[in-house]
Amino acid sequence: MTSIRTYEGEIRICTRCGQPAFLGGISERTGEWWLHFTEQYDGVHCNRFPLAGPVRKIPWDFKSRQHVKERYPDLRPRR
Ligand SMILES: [Zn+2]
Repeated sequence: MTSIRTYEGEIRICTRCGQPAFLGGISERTGEWWLHFTEQYDGVHCNRFPLAGPVRKIPWDFKSRQHVKERYPDLRPRR
């Protein structure tokens, strides 16, 4: 699983649920596939989680990207 806190690659927004997503890989057959971060878990319901739906590119500046990385709620269950 991938944490948004330490992720260094591009972050886009899933158009199904409005939450951040990262590039999971590229398949020859279906093209790019994007995944949600570990922090989302099932706290925000995305009907494809952990996969993301179609993604939207966000023109982050350094500050807004840093903000979302630090403040994104961590909804993973704790034991
Ligand atoms: Zn989603």
